[in-house]
Amino acid sequence: MGRFGKGKIIAMLDRGDEWQVAYVIPKGGYQQLRAAGLEELKKSVVEVVPEFQQRIQNLHDWSQIAFLSVESSRVKRWYRPRLLLIGDAAHIMSPVGGVGINYAIQDAVVAANVLSKPLKIRQVQLSDLAKVQRQRELPTRIIQAFQTFIQKRVFAPVLTSNRTFVPPAFLRLPILGDLPGRLIALGVFPVHVKT
Ligand SMILES: Cc1cc2nc3c(=O)[nH]c(=O)nc-3n(C[C@H](O)[C@H](O)[C@H](O)COP(=O)(O)OP(=O)(O)OC[C@H]3O[C@@H](n4cnc5c(N)ncnc54)[C@H](O)[C@@H]3O)c2cc1C
Repeated sequence: MGRFGKGKIIAMLDRGDEWQVAYVIPKGGYQQLRAAGLEELKKSVVEVVPEFQQRIQNLHDWSQIAFLSVESSRVKRWYRPRLLLIGDAAHIMSPVGGVGINYAIQDAVVAANVLSKPLKIRQVQLSDLAKVQRQRELPTRIIQAFQTFIQKRVFAPVLTSNRTFVPPAFLRLPILGDLPGRLIALGVFPVHVKT
């Protein structure tokens, strides 16, 4: 679940016996948040999620809060002799859309499909490693471009504005149907383990 307040974005994940809550701040905004104090942060969360009024009181100090830095980038070459990078090691994913784990697993599936035979006969060529990158780089580029677009068009304007968030028109287009969901869940080109 995501909630938008004036200048605020909060994501909430129901973990069954606890809530995982992400409070999004602009890059470089952590010192300011700390300086304002924990009570300010709690107040700010409750403004957007009033039903957390009670349980937010369980936050007593900053050690209960993890600070996670967000980045989105790729290395140019994912392999060297005897080494292949996949997942975040090859392409750091931003949390936008919650796709990073999917993409890391899809890399692993492609790596297994491409490399299992050469590994069995102990003859992995550099060209085999290059094939994994070739198959995975384009989908990664596409999804990272999508994440950057959402970051710039949706998240950044919310964080720098004091107005109530109104979803941009492109997010409300019925023509999109389940496309964004499929893109996030299955990837640009769905992959399957070859048996
Ligand atoms: C704030 C934030 C929120 C996110 N939210 C989501 C989300 O909701 N959904 C989603 O799909 N993605 C999310 N992502 C992205 C996601 O976390 C990553 O894309 C994903 O975890 C990448 O998986 P990975 O296995 O490649 O790398 P990692 O998950 O980083 O795994 C690497 C592992 O290697 C271990 N390691 C490191 N060095 C060594 C070493 N020398 N020896 C042994 N082990 C080592 C690390 O401890 C770690 O366990 C988020 C990212 C951020 C920053």
